[in-house]
Amino acid sequence: MTVTQIINPATEEVIESVNMASEHEVDAAIERAQHAFATWRAVDPADRARLLRQFAAAVDADIENLAALEVRNAGHTIGNARWEAGNVRDVLNYYAGAPERLSGRQIPAPGGVNITFHEPLGVVGIIVPWNFPMPIAGWGFAPALAAGNTVVLKPAEITPLTAIRLGELAVQAGIPEGVFTVIPGKGSVVGERFVTHPLVRKVVFTGSTDVGKRIMAGCSEQVKRVTLELGGKNSNVVFADADLEQAAAATPDGAFDNAGQDCCSRSRVLVQRSVLDRFLELLEPAVKNFTCGDPWQEGTAMGPLVSRQHRDSVASYLDASAPVAFQGSAPEGAGFWFPPTVLLPAPESRVFREEIFGPIISVVPFEDEADAVRLANDTEYGLSGSIWTRDVGRALRVSRGVEAGNLSVNTHASVRYWTPFGGFKQSGFGRELGPDAPDAFTETKNVFLSNN
Ligand code: NAP
Ligand code: MG
Repeated sequence: MTVTQIINPATEEVIESVNMASEHEVDAAIERAQHAFATWRAVDPADRARLLRQFAAAVDADIENLAALEVRNAGHTIGNARWEAGNVRDVLNYYAGAPERLSGRQIPAPGGVNITFHEPLGVVGIIVPWNFPMPIAGWGFAPALAAGNTVVLKPAEITPLTAIRLGELAVQAGIPEGVFTVIPGKGSVVGERFVTHPLVRKVVFTGSTDVGKRIMAGCSEQVKRVTLELGGKNSNVVFADADLEQAAAATPDGAFDNAGQDCCSRSRVLVQRSVLDRFLELLEPAVKNFTCGDPWQEGTAMGPLVSRQHRDSVASYLDASAPVAFQGSAPEGAGFWFPPTVLLPAPESRVFREEIFGPIISVVPFEDEADAVRLANDTEYGLSGSIWTRDVGRALRVSRGVEAGNLSVNTHASVRYWTPFGGFKQSGFGRELGPDAPDAFTETKNVFLSNN
């Protein structure tokens, strides 16, 4: 058995040791989940709804504990961590409304009638990254369970603590044994087994585009269903006619929230050339006031990066090719700190093209609307983005022109659990959240019933 030491990224202290599952243990968990499926799918929809609400209530009662675990394990600020735990509760409550509403159609035909059924798939394997361990898990398991599937969940190796706790809370809430199983482990063992095990009927993967491609290739062997939520390199497009004060004030949070470790981070800031100087003047104090420090302190805007390895990866983007315009400050000493940073790179540079997943913004000027859309689309990714303008027609034209799944106008907030979320292009496919998410965990079956 291998053990992973869990490190607090703000202090570099070892806070826990967690056993990583072996392939044998994964197989046993999948078999238990398959066994549980037979009963879970047959549970009266009203009872399934009630159990999901009980699970939500158990999460609600544990919010302070879950939040504290995430501050210690992932370095999230206490305010964000409370929101993330609350998001799991909300998503469970939202999809607790689904079981009684799942229904099919009847379609007449000569000699009888067609009846459509939306049947659960079976065991669903959910693979979660380290950046938002709680919400991303909940976005998968809540609609999957609501639709009558059982779930095996693999948290990221370095951030398993809140997922383990959610597994305990599910049991406390009365979710039957085997219906929801958390399996801490490595991607190369647990994640790969979800892909290859024939009893796992769907894989929901959130993570990097490179690993997503491997998962998709692996799933093709059994024509296994897959949802991919992958990387992003998102644009914040600021037109000259925007409220520049508001746009500049919102830009740091849109890019640096969760220390920039956010697939929706608006890390490319495209500014119409005529207002570039003014915008940078407004942005500088906003960036310098974006406090990086103790995640327990209310009012801290961002904590550390998740690991030493990730901090080194982010730092590698600071090289001679892209001048630093200005930076905020970050603590010194123990902890994987990196200050909020604004660069002025060329559009061909690596910093402008690759997902850094850290607190680095690239500001690049554009000339006109067509140029803005061209630059925003000049990336293999297509996850999210923002448009700042007071012109409604332009807001609509640019929103329709940008190839991305989640856009926002005059704000950087674009993710809500009751609206669909997912990517275009190499940001993945399939949609999570919103009213249709349970459908992604069902197969449609048509039965023709003869009136003979
Ligand atoms: P990652 O390296 O791709 O890992 C994601 C998960 O996949 C982890 O649990 C990892 O396990 C597992 N994994 C690794 N190799 C695997 C394999 N061969 N087979 C199956 N599973 C495997 O991503 P990350 O570095 O944790 O997270 C950052 C990335 O996630 C960024 O690219 C970000 O944009 C993306 N992301 C996307 C969204 C979205 O909704 N579109 C949301 C959040 C994050 P280990 O723990 O062992 O590494
Ligand atoms: Mg990784």
